[in-house]
Amino acid sequence: MRTTATPFTATITGSPRIGPNRELKWAVEKYWAGRIDRAELESVAAALRSDTWKSLSAAGLDSVPVNTFSYYDQMLDTAVLVGALPPRVTGIGDELERYFVAARGNDEIAPLEMTKWFDTNYHYLVPEIGTETRFSLNPAKVLAELEETRAQDITSRPVIIGPITFLTLSKAVDGGPAPIERLDELLDSYAALLDLLAERGVQWVQLDEPVLVTDMLDTTAELAERTYARLGGLAKRPPIFVATYFGELTDALPALARTPVEAIGVDLAAGGISTVAAVPELQDKTVVAGIVDGRNIWRTDLEAALGTLATLSGSAGAVAVSTSCSTLHVPYTLEAEPDLDAALRSWLAFGFEKVTEVVALARGLKEGREAIAGQVAASNAAIASRRSDPRLNNNRVRSRIASIIASGTERGPAAGRRKAQNERLHLPDLPTTTIGSYPQTSAIRVARAALRSGEIDAAEYERRMKSEIADVIALQEKLGLDVLVHGEPERNDMVQYFAEQLEGFFATQNGWVQSYGSRCVRPPILYGDVHRPRPMTVDWITYAQSLTDKPVKGMLTGPVTILAWSFVRNDQPLADTAAQVALAIRDETIDLQSAGIAIIQVDEPALRELLPLRSKDKEAYLRWAVDAFRLSTSGVADSTQIHTHLCYSEFGEVIGAIADLDADVTSIEAARSHMEVLGDLNEAGFANSVGPGVYDIHSPRVPGVDEITSSLREALESVPADRLWVNPDCGLKTRSTEEVTASLQHLVAAAAAVRSDTT
Ligand code: GLN
Ligand code: ZN
Repeated sequence: MRTTATPFTATITGSPRIGPNRELKWAVEKYWAGRIDRAELESVAAALRSDTWKSLSAAGLDSVPVNTFSYYDQMLDTAVLVGALPPRVTGIGDELERYFVAARGNDEIAPLEMTKWFDTNYHYLVPEIGTETRFSLNPAKVLAELEETRAQDITSRPVIIGPITFLTLSKAVDGGPAPIERLDELLDSYAALLDLLAERGVQWVQLDEPVLVTDMLDTTAELAERTYARLGGLAKRPPIFVATYFGELTDALPALARTPVEAIGVDLAAGGISTVAAVPELQDKTVVAGIVDGRNIWRTDLEAALGTLATLSGSAGAVAVSTSCSTLHVPYTLEAEPDLDAALRSWLAFGFEKVTEVVALARGLKEGREAIAGQVAASNAAIASRRSDPRLNNNRVRSRIASIIASGTERGPAAGRRKAQNERLHLPDLPTTTIGSYPQTSAIRVARAALRSGEIDAAEYERRMKSEIADVIALQEKLGLDVLVHGEPERNDMVQYFAEQLEGFFATQNGWVQSYGSRCVRPPILYGDVHRPRPMTVDWITYAQSLTDKPVKGMLTGPVTILAWSFVRNDQPLADTAAQVALAIRDETIDLQSAGIAIIQVDEPALRELLPLRSKDKEAYLRWAVDAFRLSTSGVADSTQIHTHLCYSEFGEVIGAIADLDADVTSIEAARSHMEVLGDLNEAGFANSVGPGVYDIHSPRVPGVDEITSSLREALESVPADRLWVNPDCGLKTRSTEEVTASLQHLVAAAAAVRSDTT
């Protein structure tokens, strides 16, 4: 018996789960700290789920996603669902404890690795598939949440990560084959799950297959067809909706359309409808049109969207309206932003407002434009207001960029720069330094909270931050580091700190978005032409420099990273937005230089992260990313030393771009990948200085002198002593002062030891 498909018309692919006021974050963190018991954690979670479903259903969605709740991460949930937790945790008898240990580790057990979810800022846990992995179905979570929706009379649709995506994003361990080789075996578990769901009379199941829009697999279309022919061919199953997002399906779309699945979701925020129109098999399918952008915060142009949906209706059996992806990636609601001016507010739609747009579009599609005339008029007015707002068009910024680009963003030849910098800085071989931040002490947190609550004023806050800076400078002097930093105590976040000072950005008050587990970030909104009204960092750095004779590095965040960690404009190419941010950073470097600062670091930890999902788009991205970095760093004299910092290992495809950045010194995460990255850099023609991280700051372990010494000796096999720097592999803000002091002592001692054997 196969359940016949009851059509749905309005849905979203998934929703945020952390809670409108981050209730889940506070509850799990208290639970981890032993401050609340399990019953209390579970009741917070159940209330959040119930409120979410109620609000989605009340807003008018006729199919509500379920199983999108998670205590930590949906990939981890899927690993639990199919019995693919690593053997090192399966001995833990208690299910919730096992789950959290897999996510976070404990004293004895290492957690699963964490990495970026496609090109978003969400991080998932990477399941490990090894020879010991035996898939077996554990459907308790899905079924329990399904029952909860039923008790509330909500028409819900279980959402599960699809088998192809699950395996492609997993990693092989203990010599096992690539996880995707185990597809047929895994499909047995999915088949069993579909059977159970059919048994319960589920009306639709959603299987998420975002991997189908990437080039991660060689045989995407073939795998899609084989997988969904098999699942679609099951005698007992609910109707299947295969959701894809974050890009355009190419030949995987006709492949899916040839299978018996009932609905296919396409991301229309990322791609057009022409590919959809070209697939005749879609005449028998429901196309779930992801027309409301699920991962950016702009209001939908309803008029244009209605037109697209009408056209689409001609090529599909049925059309349902949806967000392009889960609204996990945007904040809950605009209502939590009292400081927005009316114009800016009218241009935006957060998670809840997007649901309203989906419902309106579904109604307009069914009943005609007139039925939603009021909403269309409001959307048109907002779009016109945005288009004509003077904040989106700063001619002075635009013409300055054009003229700088016309006169070139190349610095002088590297050899000449090096000579000028050596004469100015007199650094030893293997100079020692750190990446920027020092431990976030409780005094810093207390001061920030006191400033926010009005308990202290800005002057007192500044005094306290300066005292932190003085402590950090004194510590570095005592440790004997060669190039010092001010420690970044005044920065809440390396992007938001700049966004709050630049025109063209709006920093939200409550726009929290889950980054991983209980961690949330508040990406600023880049809505207009970017302009720097005044220097942003000069006072802090010059204060730090006044306390020491050693050089203090100026610390800036690079244009690519600022874009990657913000919501960006969708009305101009990213490259143009990047150039505007780059100009602001360039102006800051020039002011730092005028204030006597000799070394300036422009961090680009997100360079790798913005890399497009499709190979054909990568080159163009890398070109504008490099151009933006060069625009931001080419305004200074040859004698000013430019550093950059990159993290998150696995540089692979961006290695050539790192060389092209042409920074004088590049510090790079390497503690875990050993010194392999140095050979890769050499091969890419990189000939400037480099500081491979020799202290893994992601671990509380203090590396010994011998360990650092041997890393440096290994590095010297690829890089000569006069080009090698000695530094940790990232900022120190998450570590304790004790750990940092001990580790840096060892780092300085190791550098001294290695220097003495090279001279
Ligand atoms: N300068 C920053 C810091 O030290 C760099 C952080 C990063 O790479 N993510 O904190
Ligand atoms: Zn880093």
